[in-house]
Amino acid sequence: MDVVRTRGELRAALARLPRPLGLVPTMGWLHDGHRSLVRRSRDENATTALSIFVNPRQFTSPDDFTRYPRSEVRDLEVCAAEGVDLVFAPPVDEIYVPGFDTTVIVGDIAKPLEGSARPGHFDGVATVVAILFGLVGADRAYFGQKDYQQLRVIDRMTRDLAIGTQVVPCPTIREPDGLAMSSRNARLSPEARAAAPAVYRALRLAADLHDAGVRDAATLREAMRSVFAAEPLARAEYVSCADAATLVELETVDRPALLSVAAEFGGVRLIDNLVVGG
Ligand code: AMP
Repeated sequence: MDVVRTRGELRAALARLPRPLGLVPTMGWLHDGHRSLVRRSRDENATTALSIFVNPRQFTSPDDFTRYPRSEVRDLEVCAAEGVDLVFAPPVDEIYVPGFDTTVIVGDIAKPLEGSARPGHFDGVATVVAILFGLVGADRAYFGQKDYQQLRVIDRMTRDLAIGTQVVPCPTIREPDGLAMSSRNARLSPEARAAAPAVYRALRLAADLHDAGVRDAATLREAMRSVFAAEPLARAEYVSCADAATLVELETVDRPALLSVAAEFGGVRLIDNLVVGG
């Protein structure tokens, strides 16, 4: 497994690795969700590259950036065990070169939900992914549906900017109790970890109501809110039932819908979603 840090080293390594090439962009602290993206890439490509870069531009609080879990030693062990061919782990100034002065801003799809809860977040995401796509030139790139809106934002950007990398969506991997795997879970206290499955319970309740025939979106949002209200350690930030294509809030669920939530557990912010009616 090659581990490279600079643009030059990356270019040299890519020149000697066979195509097609799959890329798995991550912020490290790798877990089974990341592993599933690597496995999918290995199934579909001759070479799998994984990037590890905690992107300062997508954090909306400096504290959150500083406290984001990091362990490169552990991540490199996971990559080696999963058969990753190339790890790109650049320092910040290899991504944002001296004088860097460009921001990629995606339109409407980036505005609601995470875009409104974390202003500027998707500008940071779209910018770093555009740079990674430019540097790596992968045939395919793998993203988790756990970050549904991120996937939609990147898909939009890739089409609009005629980037020749195909964006491949991959299913959300969960703990046995339903909690979506996330690097941020490492920061949960034991009490917060015990409370955190409320996120999935809320989504599941709304999805079950939908499957039982409830089509009033306000009723589904209220059901999700009631789960958080019953969990003293949870602080719901938003609950949403939106058009899965546009992410505009629905009144009536008469098309595929994205149920999504953001909630804090003891200061750790978690997001998750389920698509219904798809
Ligand atoms: P992150 O390191 O959190 O930026 O995530 C890197 C990639 O892994 C993104 O495409 C995420 O959507 C994806 N990912 C994160 N958690 C999961 C999960 N539980 N299941 C599937 N994919 C995930």
